[in-house]
Amino acid sequence: MKQLIVITGASSGIGAAMAQAFSAKGHPLLLLARRVEPMQALGLENSLAISVDVTDAEAMKAAIAEAEAKFGPVGCLINNAGVMLLGAADVQDPAEWSRMLNINVMGVLNGIHAVLADMKARKTGTIINVSSIAGRKTFPNHAAYCATKFAVHALTENIREEVAMDDVRMVTIAPGAVETALLSHTTNEEIKAGYNEWKEFMGGVIEPTAVADAAVFAFEQPQNVCVREIVLAPTRQQ
Ligand code: NDP
Repeated sequence: MKQLIVITGASSGIGAAMAQAFSAKGHPLLLLARRVEPMQALGLENSLAISVDVTDAEAMKAAIAEAEAKFGPVGCLINNAGVMLLGAADVQDPAEWSRMLNINVMGVLNGIHAVLADMKARKTGTIINVSSIAGRKTFPNHAAYCATKFAVHALTENIREEVAMDDVRMVTIAPGAVETALLSHTTNEEIKAGYNEWKEFMGGVIEPTAVADAAVFAFEQPQNVCVREIVLAPTRQQ
């Protein structure tokens, strides 16, 4: 059955690849990010692209209501929008920590809040939260980013237990290094250069389509099968 799929952070990288993958399966889409043009440029049929900042809970609710009026109830919400601002804990600007916490954690909770009550009432639905390997282990200069991604694992698992008897599926996808614009927002040039050297040392990283395929796999299971967590990374990543 074709159901409305909502994808946050669909203007770039993993979210854009997910939009293409779910569109290829024939689902109608609501694409959310601050920049609308790159989402419209994907040229996907049956899709609505709306400029929403995921830290704005009311804007997210309004966009979802608009899409539901057009395409029917949300079958799957993918909370993918995120930023990674790396820095050493003693020197990093705390404003960068707030920004990450707001987008990577509050943004995910805002998305869940917008759809969960209705999914529970309908006794069906899937929420996929994009975490990271940095949500399972720590790395130098990642303190606040890791904190946000460990939080995504925790809240997903917590809510999964809360809604299991309502037949709502909660899924965490935790990718390792993926070739996207994510690193570009880090302001510390030395850390950025070190990260790029690490990518080269591994001989490259995985493509966003690999993560998109994992999301499609989880979603396409029968509703009584919940793929709780998928961890995927470059084979050479430690
Ligand atoms: P990109 O930087 O390519 O994409 C990030 C997306 O998030 C963009 O579409 C951006 O859209 C959106 N976004 C950022 N801030 C906001 C906001 N306030 N409101 C709405 N949308 C926002 O990175 P990736 O594709 O790599 O990142 C996607 C997710 O994958 C993130 O959660 C990231 O942490 C996670 N991840 C990535 C890995 C990697 O190596 N690339 C590894 C592990 C996890 P816009 O700027 O238009 O608002």
